[in-house]
Amino acid sequence: MGKLHFLILQARRWTSRIASEHERRGVIVNEQSNFAEIISTGTEILQGLYADKNAPWLSVRMEELGLPVKFHHAVGDDRADTTETLTRALSRAALVVISGGLGPTEDDLNRFIAAEVCGLACHRDQRAEEMMRARFTRHGRTFSESNLVQAMIPEGALVLHNEWGTAPGFIIPPAKGRAEGRGALVALPGPPRELQPLFEQYVAPWIKKTFPQNEIGRRRIVRTIGRPESEINELIRELFGRHQQVTVGLRAMMGRVDVRLTARCATGEEADRLLEEFVKVVLERLGEEDVYGYGEETLEEAVARALERQGLSVACAESCTAGGVATLLTNVSGSSAYFNESYVTYSNEAKTRLLGVRAETIEHYGAVSGETAHEMAEGARRASGADIGVSVTGIAGPMGGTPEKPVGLVWFGLATEEGVRTKRRVFSGSRREVRHWAATHALDLVRRYLYQRRR
Ligand code: ATP
Ligand code: MG
Repeated sequence: MGKLHFLILQARRWTSRIASEHERRGVIVNEQSNFAEIISTGTEILQGLYADKNAPWLSVRMEELGLPVKFHHAVGDDRADTTETLTRALSRAALVVISGGLGPTEDDLNRFIAAEVCGLACHRDQRAEEMMRARFTRHGRTFSESNLVQAMIPEGALVLHNEWGTAPGFIIPPAKGRAEGRGALVALPGPPRELQPLFEQYVAPWIKKTFPQNEIGRRRIVRTIGRPESEINELIRELFGRHQQVTVGLRAMMGRVDVRLTARCATGEEADRLLEEFVKVVLERLGEEDVYGYGEETLEEAVARALERQGLSVACAESCTAGGVATLLTNVSGSSAYFNESYVTYSNEAKTRLLGVRAETIEHYGAVSGETAHEMAEGARRASGADIGVSVTGIAGPMGGTPEKPVGLVWFGLATEEGVRTKRRVFSGSRREVRHWAATHALDLVRRYLYQRRR
């Protein structure tokens, strides 16, 4: 304990040293800093036992609220380390969000560390205690006294009553005096399903009120498929740094690339106007066909939208993806409007029996061939009566490759009223990745057909 106190005192002295150093140099701490820091606590995060979900989620929300995040910290359940990290963050950021460590166990110390760092005492919050007791009764659990610690809140803090879990969070407003140089502190429970609704209900409105923005931030996401990130980077190179108020970023995920555009302007109209201009350039450079959607729209939603608009239905014949394409298609609610059935034909015999693929075709060209993909797609369309039949047959690996037919080779077929087209691709990666690429690619073939048909 002696050692801990010593460390805390050290951290305190250090903060006040930083504060007075800032004072001397005429730096106004916090009052003019317009960024946030996030501290995720939990030894398990440092041990790699689970990935930190809170910092990324909070970062997106804070950016939207106009208080961008400048530092992420992960700290174990350690008093001295948390004290040091929190003290430093509070000395420079306008707002610090700390997650986790609000539970009832011995290593859940964050409420006391927060109070201590801010020089506040803790008191037991009546309403938090009542809500906790009521929650235990509702769930038929007996309330043990050790839970009471969770109702302890630093003085003067706003209590964030937790309807989604047991431990309440709290907000310690920024310190008024410049000498103290301390930003605001938000403490939230660690489980994301508690942290997120608590943030939306209490913290977001509080941030809006406490840090009124003189700039409005707007964002557009242009979702693309079919071109590698480097190529997109090349094509839209001139947009990076073209305007001081617009940030351009690329995000690649398994064959798809998002172009993310963010604008900060005095008015929302101005931001929208700038973003429209940027989106137009992106479309000109990339071409419309490679853009499947905007914002949060998924590839399967884009396909669903196009199928519905054109009043068409689709059926799949899948070998190596074994239902992956059908799964993607039915991720969208209301998919029964355009999807009736699908065939998982893993064996040669099933391809012949269910889809009418000729035995000679398989024997002569192999199960993974353009000819087989052709007959599979045709068979799926014929057997189901759907407008579009899409087929996938490939070698997912890691076994089964040959020099002529390597692991990752996938043949696709697309049967429509216009006839049958086939396509060959070779994907690299693990078995899982090859299957995922293949399913995504099959879906994209359908989307591209619909795009061209519309024109
Ligand atoms: P509890 O009352 O549940 O103990 P707490 O506020 O004390 O909540 P922690 O003990 O730090 O939070 O974490 C509880 C659980 O919440 C963890 O075991 C983990 O499953 C989840 N969790 C905590 N922090 C994170 C995080 N940053 N990202 C993802 N999951 C997290
Ligand atoms: Mg805990």
